[in-house]
Amino acid sequence: MRGTLIHAPGDIRFGQVPDPEIVEPTDAIVRIAATCVCGSDLWPYRGASPIAEPRPIGHEYVGHVESVGSEVASVQPGQFVIGSFFASDNTCPICHAGYQTSCPNRQLVNGCQAEYVRVPLADGTLVTTPDEPDADMIPDLLTLSDVMGTGWFAAVAAEVKPGMTVAVVGDGAVGLCAVLAARELGAAQVIAMSRHSPRQKLATEFGATDIVTERGDEGVERVKELTHGLGADAVLECVGTDQSMHQAVRSARPGGNVSFVGVPHGVNLPITELFATHIALRGGPAPVRAFLPDLIDRVWHGAIAPGTVFDRTLPLDQVADAYRAMDERQAIKVLLQP
Ligand SMILES: [Zn+2]
Repeated sequence: MRGTLIHAPGDIRFGQVPDPEIVEPTDAIVRIAATCVCGSDLWPYRGASPIAEPRPIGHEYVGHVESVGSEVASVQPGQFVIGSFFASDNTCPICHAGYQTSCPNRQLVNGCQAEYVRVPLADGTLVTTPDEPDADMIPDLLTLSDVMGTGWFAAVAAEVKPGMTVAVVGDGAVGLCAVLAARELGAAQVIAMSRHSPRQKLATEFGATDIVTERGDEGVERVKELTHGLGADAVLECVGTDQSMHQAVRSARPGGNVSFVGVPHGVNLPITELFATHIALRGGPAPVRAFLPDLIDRVWHGAIAPGTVFDRTLPLDQVADAYRAMDERQAIKVLLQP
């Protein structure tokens, strides 16, 4: 088959790679209908994590089941499926508690920027759609594999409830999906922190009631002005830097919740400030699998349409251009079609 390998920072190549095969009887092979580039794929692309040898990349996927191992019972060839970027058994106590991305048996589903991908633990990982989706729904469904599921977790982890005030730090695809999630969960006020006008526009379409363009101390002051001087009930941190984390903590009201779903890079938690303000934290790699049935249902019935985070679509063989566009912030998120 044809697939994507990252050879070195800035060096993405598309070409002939080995076909994935059923290795374990619990595996499935999925024929990719659509995939995309994740913000976290940009870390190795930018040289932030070492690349010893050329390796497959990509972890967001929707498509049709091509074949299944002998022990797979819940999906069959031909069905349209969505899965999380981490495969999980979905049967252990950690999965039952709703933390499938911390499943002791978890495995990264990697190499999705290709024509086919091997998905381990298919029964615990893949969720079918009610029927074959229309082509125009595929971008919405693809977001559920990571970004929308992660934005949803940001809102759930910060315990967003109807009527709350919510601030979202970060205007990447996850931050924008977090705005949508907060509104869908009933937040009365959603403050999106963004200084880029196309992203502000999308945040507003997704239900943001206020846009704050300032960062740092000024951004915190603006959030307080918008929340009776107190700070937001829930703050959703969707970046992962030290600056964004401090901005999130300081934008929350005393006793409020801060969630963090961006992979942390060089973050030092202000523990004294957390102690003084009773602010609670919860974050981590989003347990997307926990939300898939509900989110598929919401997309299927038109309640949410998060696929508009894809502002560019390219054929899969132009994957290197997709990385470049996202690296240079010319695109929010690029959808790739095999
Ligand atoms: Zn598990």
